[in-house]
Amino acid sequence: MSSSSNSTSTKGRWTHKKARSSTRGKLGELSEKEWNLLEPFDVLDLKDKDGNLESFHVSDTIAIVSSKDVSKLQLYDYWIGKIKGIRGESESSRAWVMVNWYYSPRDVKAQIPVFEPSPSARYERIYSHHCDIVSATHIAGKVSVFQLLEDNADQHPIPANSFFSRYYFDIKGGPKNFAVMQFTYHDPATSISTIHSAINIMRCDLCAGPYNPEAFDPDEIQRWCPAPECRRGFHHRCLDAADKKSEPFPSVTDLILARIANNDDTQSTDDGPPARLTHENLHCIPAQLLTLAAQPLVRGERFGVAGNIAMIAHARRTIHSALSDQSLPTCKTPYSFRSNHVDLNLDLWYKDPAFNGWEGAIIEELDPHRGEDRMRLLRCPQCTRAI
Ligand SMILES: [Zn+2]
Ligand SMILES: [Zn+2]
Repeated sequence: MSSSSNSTSTKGRWTHKKARSSTRGKLGELSEKEWNLLEPFDVLDLKDKDGNLESFHVSDTIAIVSSKDVSKLQLYDYWIGKIKGIRGESESSRAWVMVNWYYSPRDVKAQIPVFEPSPSARYERIYSHHCDIVSATHIAGKVSVFQLLEDNADQHPIPANSFFSRYYFDIKGGPKNFAVMQFTYHDPATSISTIHSAINIMRCDLCAGPYNPEAFDPDEIQRWCPAPECRRGFHHRCLDAADKKSEPFPSVTDLILARIANNDDTQSTDDGPPARLTHENLHCIPAQLLTLAAQPLVRGERFGVAGNIAMIAHARRTIHSALSDQSLPTCKTPYSFRSNHVDLNLDLWYKDPAFNGWEGAIIEELDPHRGEDRMRLLRCPQCTRAI
């Protein structure tokens, strides 16, 4: 254990025991004035009961013990914070960390009654600049909090039973001066710092409710529209109820063409006219890739918090990009390795690491060779494209 600072950028390490119990009242036991008098450290080493060391640094996300009996805690019961600073006291062998809290949605509601958290939220956390100084004895270990950007077609998968965060919570002057804002991939509509008493989050246009990532109900699944002017989702139940069934059911091939044409095209480097998949060139594409690219983009329930969106969006781009490299081909016979008379370099499409586990993203068995079967088409309420 080292307890003194030196002149290099590494100010030293602090070694301590990991938390095995906690009393909430003691979490904020240090005032900011007392904190400022302590010695700063770059690294905090904590030992578990078996003597194994885990090192903590500024910016690490940590689980903080929230009850007297750790053995009864589930992962989602821990308090979560992001380390902003590490300080200690050489004489007493004590150390503290300053953390920004990740609030649970229920804790945000306790402060902002008009905020409606998802009823089944367990792993969702809402980031805040609210700081506390926490004794190192309350730290249980490091955890990951994945960021969910609801408007990002390339959102990375979020493993099951993992913490994730899509909102930012700012409370400046009590319940009348607050903001709940959403982290977005594309430019946010408003700056967080100028908003007061506002809940500014992405919602389903049809019911004004947000996406509920941890619901177990298939009706709560979000269907997502990748069109650049949309990049947003709608509850399956809302689309289902709004569907007037006024248009005839399209054939499988029409549905495939309509879905694949709805594409987030920001990644396109093609300077020419947009590549188009048509009845004439449909069979130049391997059937399984067509089936994959024509899947609805969904999130939630068994498809996971981030859903199949990144993989399906990548499949659509793969097809558009292959077509844009060629003068548009015509393939009258179904695609096969031997008879494919236009080489679009798609034979080994499934070797692309982005398609690992692609079978798991299939929701509808859309066989392009059964073109005359009739299918139900749901349209985006905003842009009317197939989703
Ligand atoms: Zn809805
Ligand atoms: Zn749309």
